[in-house]
Amino acid sequence: MTRRTGRRSYSAASLARHALSGHRCWPRAIPEDRPRSGYEVVIIGAGGHGLAAAYHLARDHGIRDVAVIDKGYLGGGNVTRNTAIVRSNYFLPARGDIADRSLELWEGLSEDLNFNVMFSQGGIINLAHSTSQLDDFARRANAMAIRGVPAELLSRDEVAALLPRLDISSSTRYPVVGGLLQRRAGTVRHDAVAWGYARAAASLGVDIVQNHEVTAITSEGGRVTGVVTPHGEIHADRVIAAVSAGSTRIAQAAGLTLPVESHVLQAAVTEPLAPVLHHVVTHGLVNFYVSQTDKGELLLGGNIDGYNTRIARGGPSPLEEAIRVLVSMFPSLSRVRLLRTWAGVVDMSMDGAPILSETPLGGFYLNTGWCYGGFKTTPAVGELLAEMVATGTTPPMAAPFALDRFASGRIVPEEGHGPKPWMYH
Ligand SMILES: Cc1cc2nc3c(=O)[nH]c(=O)nc-3n(C[C@H](O)[C@H](O)[C@H](O)COP(=O)(O)OP(=O)(O)OC[C@H]3O[C@@H](n4cnc5c(N)ncnc54)[C@H](O)[C@@H]3O)c2cc1C
Repeated sequence: MTRRTGRRSYSAASLARHALSGHRCWPRAIPEDRPRSGYEVVIIGAGGHGLAAAYHLARDHGIRDVAVIDKGYLGGGNVTRNTAIVRSNYFLPARGDIADRSLELWEGLSEDLNFNVMFSQGGIINLAHSTSQLDDFARRANAMAIRGVPAELLSRDEVAALLPRLDISSSTRYPVVGGLLQRRAGTVRHDAVAWGYARAAASLGVDIVQNHEVTAITSEGGRVTGVVTPHGEIHADRVIAAVSAGSTRIAQAAGLTLPVESHVLQAAVTEPLAPVLHHVVTHGLVNFYVSQTDKGELLLGGNIDGYNTRIARGGPSPLEEAIRVLVSMFPSLSRVRLLRTWAGVVDMSMDGAPILSETPLGGFYLNTGWCYGGFKTTPAVGELLAEMVATGTTPPMAAPFALDRFASGRIVPEEGHGPKPWMYH
């Protein structure tokens, strides 16, 4: 029997030989490539989006002369710093369509990549704290139903049955009146997503180049011609920038100004517990979300710190608020100890929606502005970027996210996704 692992096939005999040699001779799963002098496509940023784009370029369009170049290590950006929530419970069709397509792709991703990304569809419950908010959730559920996406409006008793540890008494800090449930939502192990895409792309011939910061974009006659790193210039017919919080600098290097701000966003995990929470739960008044990882940790996130920065280190207040909300919701968890906190720098666009777009510089494509929520759309973003670059056209699903919408006023204002700290997730 022969087993396929991203780059090579292994026979039973070779597996046995590796086992008997103490597993010392395995080749690297993801090779450490040095860049060549030129490629058909260069992708800046080995996050989920850049790696997924490389995978789809190679697999769906046969474009394998591709390099993904990162200033640090692959997956060192937000793809592995997020709270791993994937869902498609959006109101606006533009946001919903891309998240729905991603959910479809998440469902088959482990098989596609031959890498277990640990997609866990426990469902997401958004809590409602007033009848008007429940009305708003009903409107959202109807919008989802129109897209053919199941969602369930929950009464207070139904929420209580699904979340037995939740304090639903009327004396709690934020009394709960109901909720919205999307059963197909859940979490994905985020670092597996980076490794899985990287290994699958590398196995199709894509070069993955780490520790090469792109410092400039070269162009001639209004068309991109390549990128510059401290190690030299790399030519490219087309360039995709998928660098999240690095976007404004990269765009500047291409002569563009972006309506994007950099903000710090934090997350935390507690010590591991026996299973206590089977769903992702989001608060309806404060920006707070919690789930339980496969290891048993409670994984929590809150609001951005609220000031512009490029440093992935936040202050105590957003996490203190997140913990206060957690304890008010689940008083029985008040003695649980916090184990670890971390931060990422997120790319907040002015309407809270992403920019997935060609640019005035021919052959130069931008993917940015994902704010709190770009992880969930990783698979569809990869597919769309690859199609844009391979065909030179904008797929209908990407059209609402064009860069020129900020000039024309056709913004995509899904409530609660902009850079304003008082807005909720
Ligand atoms: C704490 C936190 C919680 C979050 N929770 C969620 C969530 O639950 N669900 C969700 O959907 N989203 C969530 N997000 C958002 C999500 O993580 C991001 O939107 C998404 O991961 C962005 O993916 P990316 O591939 O574009 O960027 P990244 O993964 O950030 O990749 C960008 C890469 O570009 C590289 N780079 C930057 N500049 C350069 C340069 N000049 N040259 C070369 N390389 C460069 C970086 O090193 C980095 O590796 C969260 C984010 C944070 C920080």
